[in-house]
Amino acid sequence: MSNEPRFVILIGPPASGKGTQAARLCQLLNIPHVASGDLFREHLKNKTELGLKAGAYMERGELVPDEITIGMVMERLSRPDCAAGALLDGFPRTIAQAEALDRVLAERGHRIAAVLYIKVPDQVLIERVSGRRICRTCGESYHIKFNPPQVPGVCDRDGGELYQRDDDKEETVRKRLQVYREQTDPLVAYYRQQGILAEINGDQPIDAVTAELRAALAASSCTRV
Ligand code: ADP
Ligand code: AMP
Ligand code: ZN
Repeated sequence: MSNEPRFVILIGPPASGKGTQAARLCQLLNIPHVASGDLFREHLKNKTELGLKAGAYMERGELVPDEITIGMVMERLSRPDCAAGALLDGFPRTIAQAEALDRVLAERGHRIAAVLYIKVPDQVLIERVSGRRICRTCGESYHIKFNPPQVPGVCDRDGGELYQRDDDKEETVRKRLQVYREQTDPLVAYYRQQGILAEINGDQPIDAVTAELRAALAASSCTRV
C-alpha cells in the first residue's frame, strides 16, 4: 500500500452527480472534498471580494475567470488536510486550469491518480437540476424525488435548511450546459491522452454509480478503496 497522496478528479456536466458521489468517495478514500463551486458559494455567503466578483459570473451561468479560480483552488490544496490528497469536484473546468494543476502538482512531486468522467444525457440533467436542493450548512446535495432527505427541507446530516440554488433555474442551466460543452468537455480528451481517464455511466441509481466509481478507482493507481 502506497502512502503517496491521492489526487482524484471528478469531471462531468452540471448535475451529473459529482457532489453526491464525492461525499461518498471522500469517506472511502479518507481525503477532503475540494469543490470549487462550494468554495465560491462560501465566499459569496461571506461577501468576500472574491465571492462578490465570482457571484456575477455564477449568476449568468458563466465560468469564473481562470486567474481567480486557479488561485483559490491552489490555496485550498496547500492546506495541511490536503497533504494526503484531495477529491477535486468541479475543478479543473478549462484546459488552462488543468495545465495549472498539472504544473503545481508536479512542483510538489505529486500527480493525478485518476480522472473519473461521469456521463449523463442532457434531458436527465435538466430533471436532476430542477429537483436539486442544497444544505445551507454543509452543501450536501439532495433531490426531492431521487434522493430525498428524511424530513422535507432539512439536511439529514446536520439539520441545516435546504434551498434551491439561484443558478439552477432552467435558462441558467442551459447556459451552464453550453459552457460545459465548449470549455470543459475538451478535458475528457486531455486526460484520456494521459491514460488516466475512466468513463462512468452516471445515468443509473446513485448506489450503482458509486459501485462503478469504486471499481474504476480500484483499477487505477488509487488502490485503497
Ligand atoms: P453535481 O455536483 O455534478 O452538480 P449533484 O451531486 O448535486 O451534481 O447532483 C445533481 C442532482 O441530481 C441532485 O439533486 C442529486 O440528488 C441528484 N442525483 C445525483 N446522482 C443521481 C443519480 N444517480 N440518480 C438520480 N439523481 C441523482
Ligand atoms: P458548481 O457548483 O460546480 O455547479 O459551480 C457553480 C458555478 O461556480 C459555475 O457555474 C461557475 O460559475 C463557478 N465555478 C465553479 N467551479 C469553477 C471552475 N473550476 N472554473 C470556473 N468557474 C467555476
Ligand atoms: Zn447539511
